[in-house]
Amino acid sequence: MISDNINKLKYSIEKKCSECGRNSEEITLVAVSKYFGIDAILQAKDSGILNFGENRAQELTLKYDKIGNSVIWHFIGTLQKNKVKYAVRCSEFIHSVDSLDLLFEINKKAESFDKIQKVLFEVKTSYEETKAGITSEEEIFRLAEEAQKLSNVKALGLMTISPLTEDEKLIRKSFSYLRNLKEKLNKKGFDYNELSMGMTSDYEIAIEEGSTILRIGSAIFGDRDYSKDWRQI
Ligand SMILES: *Cc1c(COP(=O)(O)O)cnc(C)c1O
Repeated sequence: MISDNINKLKYSIEKKCSECGRNSEEITLVAVSKYFGIDAILQAKDSGILNFGENRAQELTLKYDKIGNSVIWHFIGTLQKNKVKYAVRCSEFIHSVDSLDLLFEINKKAESFDKIQKVLFEVKTSYEETKAGITSEEEIFRLAEEAQKLSNVKALGLMTISPLTEDEKLIRKSFSYLRNLKEKLNKKGFDYNELSMGMTSDYEIAIEEGSTILRIGSAIFGDRDYSKDWRQI
């Protein structure tokens, strides 16, 4: 089941890439395994998935302690300051940096683990109240500049979650905004290459708009059971 889903998804990504003249090798597929157990992750791993995404620090820690560094972990959820140590210990990438405070804390914890933490800046590209992310360009430039001065973080690019809508135009607008912002940063001399955008419902649009990291859950693992207790995985 999971392996079939992965094959279908990979085929569809390939197809979309060739349609818009992109090389699928420049796109990393992150399987978002939140709410799914170790078994499901190992099945996906056996089917050739190397990157996994989690959005809660404790859930990531639990899975990391069972599976370890045989896969690459991405932290993609809202991160509270007191949970930074877990995210830094377990993940190679943190996609959700949206404040200076958080950036400094990540740098501090990364130093204590003697690692260089790869990070992305999460940008709010929709008007929904609940979504996290940086809201002004000024703030992004500020974060990019500060990150450059820190020795234990390496900023690689930008991340966003598109607005929850069926309106393809709005989704596309959110992704193209992120791409333009990355280009502005590149012009200012920041060597950012990554655009983390695109989930199950909108990854095709994201590929068209230049995504380099897709974060896909349901298309791989099926529907999530939100009533499930993550400690039972
Ligand atoms: C859950 C989640 C995803 C994956 O969502 P699907 O619709 O299941 O593909 C991607 N990004 C973030 C930040 C998430 O929390």
